[in-house]
Formats: sequence, C-alpha cells, structure tokens
Amino acid sequence: MPVLPGLMMEAPLVTITLLQYAARYHPTTEIVSRSVEGPIHRYDYARCYARTQQLAHALSALGIAEGDRVATIAWNGYRHLELYYAIPGVGAVCHTINPRLHGDQIIYIVNHAQDRLLFVDLTFVPLIERIAPQLTSVEAFVIMTDRAHMPKTSLRNALSYEELIASKPETFDWPEIDERAAGALCYTSGTTGNPKGVLYSQRSLMIYAMNICMRRSFGYAATDSVLPVVPMFHVHAWGIPFGCPLGGAKLVLPGAKLDPESLYELFESEEVTVTAGVPTIWAALIDYLRRNDKRLTTMRLLAIGGAAAPRAMVDAFEREFGVPIVHGWGMTETTGSATDTSLAPLEANLPYEQCLNFKTKQGRGRCFIDIKVIDEEGRDLPCDGKSSGELCVRGPWIASAYYKDEAASKAAIDAKGWLHTGDVATIDPRGYVQIVDRRKDMIKSGGEWISSIDLENLACAFPGVAEAAVIAKPDPRWGERPLLVVRPGEGKNLAAPDILAFLATKVAKLAVPDEVVFLQEIPHTATGKIAKRLLRQQLLENPRRAAG
Ligand code: AMP
Repeated sequence: MPVLPGLMMEAPLVTITLLQYAARYHPTTEIVSRSVEGPIHRYDYARCYARTQQLAHALSALGIAEGDRVATIAWNGYRHLELYYAIPGVGAVCHTINPRLHGDQIIYIVNHAQDRLLFVDLTFVPLIERIAPQLTSVEAFVIMTDRAHMPKTSLRNALSYEELIASKPETFDWPEIDERAAGALCYTSGTTGNPKGVLYSQRSLMIYAMNICMRRSFGYAATDSVLPVVPMFHVHAWGIPFGCPLGGAKLVLPGAKLDPESLYELFESEEVTVTAGVPTIWAALIDYLRRNDKRLTTMRLLAIGGAAAPRAMVDAFEREFGVPIVHGWGMTETTGSATDTSLAPLEANLPYEQCLNFKTKQGRGRCFIDIKVIDEEGRDLPCDGKSSGELCVRGPWIASAYYKDEAASKAAIDAKGWLHTGDVATIDPRGYVQIVDRRKDMIKSGGEWISSIDLENLACAFPGVAEAAVIAKPDPRWGERPLLVVRPGEGKNLAAPDILAFLATKVAKLAVPDEVVFLQEIPHTATGKIAKRLLRQQLLENPRRAAG
C-alpha cells in the first residue's frame, strides 16, 4: 500500500533549537558555573546564545564543517555548554572525553574518532600535554580560559577560548542540518579491547530531551534550578544540558568541585530543586548532611543512576531528609536512562516499606522504549518478577551500532534491533525492572568502569603470577572495588605491594585494586573459564582466605 504522506512541515529536530528557544523565551534565566579558574560565573540564556554564535563563527573559521569531530575534555561549566550547542549547530559532532580514562585509551579514542580540534579545561592541560604527540588528527588545542589565565604550554597551535571567540559577531546563520545527522559522540569502555563509540543523532538527543521534560520523569520547568553532578563528559550529563533550556530551567554547573561541602553550598545558594548523580556522590552527601546537621531546603527531586541505588540511601533521602528520589537505569548506549522509578499510583500508595521496594528497583521503561529479558538461547522470558535473563532494549534513543566498529556492533545489537545490555534482570508483571547481576566482566567504581579482564591480563604479565582473577567487592563508598586474586607459580613468593605497584604503572589510578588475595587454586567452570560466581561466594560471602 502506498503511504499517504501527512501534510505537516518537516522542521528538523536539531539541538540548536533548544538554546534558541531558551534565549527567546527565557532570556534572563541564569546559568551559574563554578569556574575552573575559581570564581562563580553567572550569565543567562541570552548571553549564552550570543557567545554560542560567536563560537560557531570561530569553529567555521577553523574550517570545521558538517560531520567533523570536535573533542572536549572538560568539567561541567558554561564554556562546555556553549560547545555542546555550537558544535552540532554547525553540523559537527561534539565528542566528549572522560578525563578519568587512562592516557592510552584517550589516545585510542581521539585517533579513532579522528578529532580535528580538542577543547581542554585548564585542569587537563598537563594530561593532554603528555599524550599530545600521539593525537595525530588534532590540528589545534583550545584551552578553555582567557588570556590572563593562559598557561605556558607545549600544546601545538594552542589558542585561548576567549580570544578565539572575542571579536566574532554575536549572530550566526545556522546551516540546515538533517535531524538524523550525528551531533554527539561518547565512548564507553568495553569488557575487553578498545572503547566503543556511541554516536548520537540530533534527533535522538532531542527526543530524549523531550522525554526527560515530562512530569513522570524529571519535568524540568521554568521554576526549577537544576544541578547535574553527573559530568558533561559522561553521556552528556544524562541529557540535562538539553532538557534545561527546553524546560526554561536555571542551570547550575559545579565545575571541578564535587566534594559534598562545595555541592551543598551551591544547592543552597542557588536554590537547587533538581539534581542527578551516581550513588558514590550521594553517599558522601548524606554523610556530610548528617555530620553537619544540614538539610536540603529547596530540593524537590534527586536522581540516582549509573549504579544501583542502595535501599538505605533511598530511605535516607526520602524519610530522613524529605527529598523524593527517582532511580533510573541506563547506559552510554541509551543516551541517558531508559527506565525510571516514577511510581504508578498502585505502587506509590502502598505502605512506605513496600513503596521503597519499588523505588530501589530500576523502574519501568519510558514511553518509546521496548524492554525484555531473554534466556541463554535468546528466548524471551516471562515478565513474572522471577525469571532472570539478559536485559535487552530498543527505541529511538538507543544505539543501533557502534561507530566504525562492526564486530562490537554485531556482538551487541541483534537482527531485530535489540541492544543486548550485558545486565541481568527480572521484570515484574507491572513492568518494574530489577537488575540482579551483570554478564559483562566489568567493575563499576564510583560510576567509572574498570575492566576485570584487562586487569587480569596485566597481572598475569607480572613475573611469577600463574593465574589471576578480578572480582567486584562491594564497597560502601565506591559501590564496588576490584579485588585481585592471584595464584602464584610453583615455588614463587609474591608480595602484594609489588604487584599493585606494577599495575599502577599500567592502568588509571582508580583501577588499581586495593588488595590482593593469594590462592593456591582458582576455581574454574566446566568450560575452563574462571568461575567468578564461585570465587565471589568463596571470598566475599564466605571468606576463607589463603595467606596473603
Ligand atoms: P555506562 O555506559 O558507563 O553509563 O554504564 C552503564 C551500566 O551501568 C549499565 O549497563 C549497568 O551495568 C550499570 N547501571 C547503570 N544504572 C544502573 C542502575 N540504576 N542500577 C544498576 N546498574 C546500573
């Protein structure tokens, strides 16, 4: 049957329209940033848009054109926000880099993305200087500061951000961009091998922004003041920099200071009503509030994601501090969250303890998102709250492939378009998802990934190590920490500090295990793989350790 086309205008869903809208209808709404240079910086959507247009001129003058990749390595701040809009505005792709990655991984992803420019916050200049000779595609480095704060640097063609945009006009004639064009890029760590690029289309970012502005989600409105603790280098701060202009909300960007005292100061002085971050940040905040007898006086919603929200944390916020929480599950591949725990009345009206059971689950799928669990053979499992299997998702803001990585794409996305997440979950008849395990051999520590397999391979390279296994050990502060288990070669006498010192030269600081357990035998499965579940039981649930 031929399609009868609808007779509506085809205005593309592109991100720059969000900032245009905010500048037009919420021009005096503030964007407040704790700058890397020190002082608090304030301006409004009108100024932000004017400077974004200056930046667009600067990018064009540097030859940045549609499809080019432009990288940032920066904290949450106003210049980063301008880059978020100017880069896709000119049709290029804003590639946000996680500074916590190991230098080798940063080299890999910049070269894989073929970034042409790299915008660097002052904090990260030394990090980038160390690896700059290997970033072969980068033509110029822009340091995100003004002339007065420009450091002496070995970076080639180093420019200061403020000088770059200073003399440019404050209006820019934006090109017409196809909404399916890529607008942002973020790499996610794989279980093994190299990081994988998730390439977001402008349309997917827009649909996601609209979704989080719904009342059942975060419902950003002009009465809100929103502080994303989740970094703008990680999955674009779960879409908050796009959702806020759409809702006309004030944006508060905390810069480099993520300790609880600095965050609390901004929460109160900027009358923050919504915030979002990983459990490690919130555990530290709860501790700070208790020790100093403080309250969150303006907060209406606190989002927890990136790792499971512990029941005690949800309880503390809701009952002790009177702050409602929303718990969401998502991945880099899902643009932000695919589920959230805004409860349906049936669950919301249950007695408190039962209600809490639902709030500590990962929530229900958002509109447009299909969710299911499958067994080892790929068969759909019932949504009975008991059958657990791999969680699969699909929808308009879920990755359909990885950037220039056919093997990884094939492994993760099936022929029917389902993304296999590597998380193991149950789904109950009402649609509540509960993550119960993880298939991917990774450890999530303070919201950052550590590859067990990479650590195992490196540990095996240490002289005298016959076999190594790394498991996640629950940790009250970090959620999980890597525990290294080593079987020494026969007659070898190994010392834990030597192995850890060796690993410290090979991996990012946060990935170095805190301890080593020596075992004469490491258990294996029938197929010869290390039996991690058994190892976890043996060492963590029923510890009977060998000497070490
Ligand atoms: P990333 O791509 O770094 O954002 O990590 C995504 C992964 O983090 C998911 O596949 C889960 O393993 C984990 N994750 C994210 N949110 C949650 C949550 N609310 N509960 C449990 N695990 C989560």
